[in-house]
Amino acid sequence: MKYVSTRSGAPVLTFDDVLLTGLARDGGLYVPDAWPVLSSERMRAFASMSYPDVAVEVMWPFVEGTIERDEFAEIVDRAYATFRHPDVVPLVALGDGVFLLELFHGPTLAFKDVALQLVGHLFDRELQRREARLTIVGATSGDTGSAAIEACRDRSTLEIVMLHPAGRVSEVQRRQMTTVLSPNVHNVAIDGTFDDCQDLVKAMFNDIPFRDRYHLSAVNSINWARILAQVVYYVKAAAELGAPDRPVSFTVPTGNFGNVFAGWVARRIGVPIRSLVVGSNRNDILPRFFRTGVMEMRGVVPTTSPSMDIQVSSNFERLLFELCGRDGGLVREVMAQFREEGRVDLGPDLLGASKEVFDAHRIDDDAVQRVIEATYRRTGVLVDPHTAVGLGAAALHQAEPGVPMICLATADPAKFPDAVEAAVGFRPELPPHLADLFDRPERMVTLPNDLERVEVLVASTTMAG
Ligand SMILES: *Cc1c(COP(=O)(O)O)cnc(C)c1O
Repeated sequence: MKYVSTRSGAPVLTFDDVLLTGLARDGGLYVPDAWPVLSSERMRAFASMSYPDVAVEVMWPFVEGTIERDEFAEIVDRAYATFRHPDVVPLVALGDGVFLLELFHGPTLAFKDVALQLVGHLFDRELQRREARLTIVGATSGDTGSAAIEACRDRSTLEIVMLHPAGRVSEVQRRQMTTVLSPNVHNVAIDGTFDDCQDLVKAMFNDIPFRDRYHLSAVNSINWARILAQVVYYVKAAAELGAPDRPVSFTVPTGNFGNVFAGWVARRIGVPIRSLVVGSNRNDILPRFFRTGVMEMRGVVPTTSPSMDIQVSSNFERLLFELCGRDGGLVREVMAQFREEGRVDLGPDLLGASKEVFDAHRIDDDAVQRVIEATYRRTGVLVDPHTAVGLGAAALHQAEPGVPMICLATADPAKFPDAVEAAVGFRPELPPHLADLFDRPERMVTLPNDLERVEVLVASTTMAG
């Protein structure tokens, strides 16, 4: 399989190159040049197969030709052996045809582990093969940082430098990063905001001589391999509830549109998905788009679901490419207008096409708190604020009778104890592997918001390795 850019102006690549490249050179995102078809017979078999076995089957057409199947299967097994639940991503019935798909049983308690645990192994394998090394540089407001660090720790092919805003991430989130003492992990607290951290990372990537000299790379959510790994749980959950013989719907709390785009891919390769419901917090660019057809940027407001406090949904570009008949020139124009004016009207045709599948709702913090409380009272299940955004959106969706609704649970409630306590009056406990998190030694350096100082640090870590 070959991969093309959504803006049609970058080289066509194979999976291994797409994995290491991330963003295409024309600024677009990589997508497969054609979609494979999953047979109904295979899908039926998935209901009773293990998660890693399903993962290998679903992903194989996308990676074939760049790795041997046995080796790929071994990597997938190792990636999901770090999950604490035997089903990896268990499906829990909440009643009335609503299910929770728990994606948070990985090392850092959030759904990003599902993709990043695999991507860490794939990066390592590809770099070993090429006898190459990379320095992963990223900025985090919380979840992404710890998931990326857990995915990259102790790998001889990688250094990882993670910037976070000093004093502005929760203590659980900070400690999940800074208590990883592996020599290739470098945590940097920046005296500034998350935006300052992101600007520093962007500036390093735009400093081409620096970027090339120190082999900078990213594992951000536009990486195709991350999307691909997420397609698997849509397929597996649907099969468990009777697909291909019975349709299902999904609700996805999303910011970057990455997770829900993976759902679109599952549908595209043959899973009978009736609706994909987007749940947003007050940062509601997606619900506004699906109502009006206008994509318009606004300032980010902080909410109790911080991992969705995003104003530009970068992965939306992949859907746009499909909606406009894979016209890369058109995507380029639309994205340029959006960049320049902060606003673009996609018109009734594209909006109409998207509405066949997508629905979207905005859930504010007070409603999130009510959902956490009501879900706990009714079912005894505690949910985190991101998952609650999804459950709130699912409740507003005009469900088709008889079609089960699978809501993606993206974080363990223990990761957001303040919001949960505000709703139910007690703090959820961290799972055993993190129970001593507050007693572990931390390691990080604090730097001013100064590009030169940060670049010196990145350079020194690379030399040391
Ligand atoms: C990252 C994250 C999300 C949003 O994921 P997208 O890739 O933006 O769709 C939702 N919930 C949690 C807990 C997250 O960490």
